[in-house]
Amino acid sequence: MMNRREWIANSTALAAATTAAAKQTGTASKKPVVISSANGRAACAKAMEVIRSGGDTLDAVIAGVNIVELDPNDTSVGYGGLPNEDGEVELDACVMHGPTRRAGSVAAIHGIKTPSKIAKLVMDTTTHVMIVGEGATKFAEAHGYKRENLLTDKARTAWLVWKESLRAPAGFNNWTSMDQNLRADASSPLPRLKQRFPDVDDATLAWAWQMANHPTYGTINCMGLNEKGEISGVTTTSGLAWKIPGRVGDSPIIGAGLFVDPDVGGGGSTGVGELNIRTAGGHTVVESMRHGMTPKEAVLEELKRVSHLYNDDRKILEKLDIQFYALRKDGEHAAGSLWGGPRAPKNYSVNDGGESRHEPCVFLYEKA
Ligand code: ASP
Repeated sequence: MMNRREWIANSTALAAATTAAAKQTGTASKKPVVISSANGRAACAKAMEVIRSGGDTLDAVIAGVNIVELDPNDTSVGYGGLPNEDGEVELDACVMHGPTRRAGSVAAIHGIKTPSKIAKLVMDTTTHVMIVGEGATKFAEAHGYKRENLLTDKARTAWLVWKESLRAPAGFNNWTSMDQNLRADASSPLPRLKQRFPDVDDATLAWAWQMANHPTYGTINCMGLNEKGEISGVTTTSGLAWKIPGRVGDSPIIGAGLFVDPDVGGGGSTGVGELNIRTAGGHTVVESMRHGMTPKEAVLEELKRVSHLYNDDRKILEKLDIQFYALRKDGEHAAGSLWGGPRAPKNYSVNDGGESRHEPCVFLYEKA
């Protein structure tokens, strides 16, 4: 325990750092900036277009991520996302509006392609911050959204491959014929899969096998700042593929998947959500910037906390993947990945007025 003198010394140091940070972040941005996870180049461009035409920063980033939510080929977000264990696409999203310091969130929502818009509706039209499950879908329906089937053929193929192959790769499996069970050979799945799904092309089957064995995490986090220094953010995802129905990751959790404080900036995340929830990553990134860290230092600080969850044991950590994004109120930004380096480079998307581009993430550990 800290004694009184240590506490006062610490508090004084903290106050000094906070004042320094306030000076550093006190100026309005000179030009608008939008950043997102690597899958968001088009989203950043769209958000920038809205910001430049005078739109609100939250409307801008939502318009950006709607592109990814509606894209059936992005299998980690919105329509076309990989489903839960029951084959149902289950989505999570949250938004934070910096200028009014408000937030909204939905989790485990079904049947609605653009959960980010429903999160904003929660923020705008209710006294609540978070609505989950069937309640969230009914809430969307009450606002005129139609419940739709979000499972594409591609995602369903991957789900069936997972059902059939992963649970018992070389053993008895209820989901394949007896003949196939007897011939099961987990080491060379493609011929078997081809026989089983004759209408599906080889590339899709190879991808489905990869997804079955390494369920993806994939999400878009997007944060935007205008020239007045106003900042907002959104995070939206279909979460972990093949999750237990009802599993909620970090993405819709204010303070984990996203945190925006208009006095400081924003922090967001993609990757293994459980690691982020356990370290309140979005909030930690913002608090680190508040206390004087640069965006780069802030994302690395949060990655160290993730690493610390496993006593920095790289053998365990190398099986995990997580990124954090930071956008400071003055327009400085960075992203950091647990793993990176020349052999496994990680990027994030940036748009500061021209074309969207990828910039490299800083990283805590280098992949051998
Ligand atoms: N963070 C998301 C989740 O855990 C997934 C991801 O970002 O890939 O649900």
